[in-house]
Amino acid sequence: MDKYTGKGVYGAVAIGKISVFKKQDAEVKRVHVEDTESEKRRYEDAKNASIEQLGEIYEKALKEVGEANAAIFEIHQMMLDDEDYNDSINNIIETQNVNAEYAVAVTADNFAEMFSNMDDAYMKARAADVRDISNRIIGNLTGDISKGNSSDEKVIICASDLAPSETVALDKDKVLAFVTAHGSSNSHTAILARNMNIPAIIGAGDEFLSKIKDGDEAIVDGFTGEIFVSPDSETRERLMKKQSEDEDKKRLLQELKGKENVTIDGRKINIYANIGSVDNIGAVLLNDAGGIGLFRSEFLYLESSDYPTEEQQFTAYKKVLESMAGKKVIIRTLDIGADKQVDYFNLKKEENPALGYRAIRICLTRPEIFKTQLRALYRASVYGHLGIMFPMITSVSELEKILAICNEVKAELKAQSVEYSESVELGIMIETPAAAIISDKLAQMVDFFSVGTNDLTQYTLACDRQNPDIEQFVDTHHEAVLELIRMSAENAHKHGAWIGICGELAADTTLTETFLRMGIDELSVSPTFVLKVRDAVRNTDLSKNEQ
Ligand code: PEP
Ligand code: MG
Repeated sequence: MDKYTGKGVYGAVAIGKISVFKKQDAEVKRVHVEDTESEKRRYEDAKNASIEQLGEIYEKALKEVGEANAAIFEIHQMMLDDEDYNDSINNIIETQNVNAEYAVAVTADNFAEMFSNMDDAYMKARAADVRDISNRIIGNLTGDISKGNSSDEKVIICASDLAPSETVALDKDKVLAFVTAHGSSNSHTAILARNMNIPAIIGAGDEFLSKIKDGDEAIVDGFTGEIFVSPDSETRERLMKKQSEDEDKKRLLQELKGKENVTIDGRKINIYANIGSVDNIGAVLLNDAGGIGLFRSEFLYLESSDYPTEEQQFTAYKKVLESMAGKKVIIRTLDIGADKQVDYFNLKKEENPALGYRAIRICLTRPEIFKTQLRALYRASVYGHLGIMFPMITSVSELEKILAICNEVKAELKAQSVEYSESVELGIMIETPAAAIISDKLAQMVDFFSVGTNDLTQYTLACDRQNPDIEQFVDTHHEAVLELIRMSAENAHKHGAWIGICGELAADTTLTETFLRMGIDELSVSPTFVLKVRDAVRNTDLSKNEQ
């Protein structure tokens, strides 16, 4: 038995087989070849295999996401047969006496650059498609293509690290647990794992990754952050017992369904859920959340290979609002950049992406993207109780610009006789120290605040949330962060706004009493934590002196 330790980000135990996740963007080396004819045949075979795989993916997507969304895979098949693309690869092999992988990579770079330089937004977005199909061919050439888990058996996915887009692409029904060698517990991948209600460990280390192989038996203990590979019978027995005790505990929490979120002395609070996709609504309803406190709309963009259209977004938002049947749904506008990269946005590489061109900064400099999203949101607003929330706010002038754009969008809809609700609530995330410090002014301009403790902690403590090496310096209960939240709550209430917390700290039940005493009105957590937080609220007595 081998034991490795990382950091558990979702407490549960999983027992099963390991599947090592392979990245498809491995570095391609230039290799000299003599026999260019056989190299061209290698390319032809890899291309045909790619076309076949895309056919299978198209069929799967057709069933899961419908024809409109599946169509991209048909387009990818056509691109693989494009004459210019194929001529370029064969010419490079022939004239430079190089390996097929290299010829494909160079062609991908050239074509992607050509597309990126075009004025037309649709053509610009094709750059990401060329890279995608080329990576698939290279994967087939090197034998590194991630075939996924073709059997029906659920597996423990182990990876160096997983980008949010890779996590989204995994077949959730086949994942028992995640273990990554790197990564940090506040990363979006960790958040996704929590949302999916599966045990997850990050930072298990390079040695772990170098020793494991597909099919190894393993046990993942998401409570302690331990992974046991080829466990002995005593460990297996102990952890099977732990697993069943945990399941019993979670079952007991189910008895809190339908009960109020009220403290012993009668103070009520809203407990809402955070989601990243329409697919998570089942979990929201199952766990009896009172509403949705954060819909990370950027996942619509991450799941797509091109800018989601107004119609696609409208359909998604309408579905969420309708499913929640009049309960409050807070949808956050696009928050990409930093660790959430979307190829077709063609964002430049930055020295400090967390401090860079992200979220509202993209929306305010590319208003056509922002307005498309706002139109879809306002149109959907007639189907339920909608709140729109803006991320990464740092100043009054930013918020003034945002509110002006909202008014513009509403005026356009009105002029076109398109219906929208007049009672949409507008709010901002308090996730920069600047926003908390000027919360007195910002509260006068909005209906609500929602504190993003993940970013607020990173910016206040100057600790990159993506960097696992500094986790020891991240004190999530740091008095500076708590003071900024307290200040924001006071200022929100002074001006008649309400305030919630939607960062991961909202689910930290050792702070539930502190948040209640600050006057926090709403806590929004991963669906799987709703009942745990309800339990904590119901066991709190605010009439007693603070401990
Ligand atoms: C946060 O920063 O706390 C937050 C909720 O937003 P995200 O984690 O998506 O950045
Ligand atoms: Mg944030």
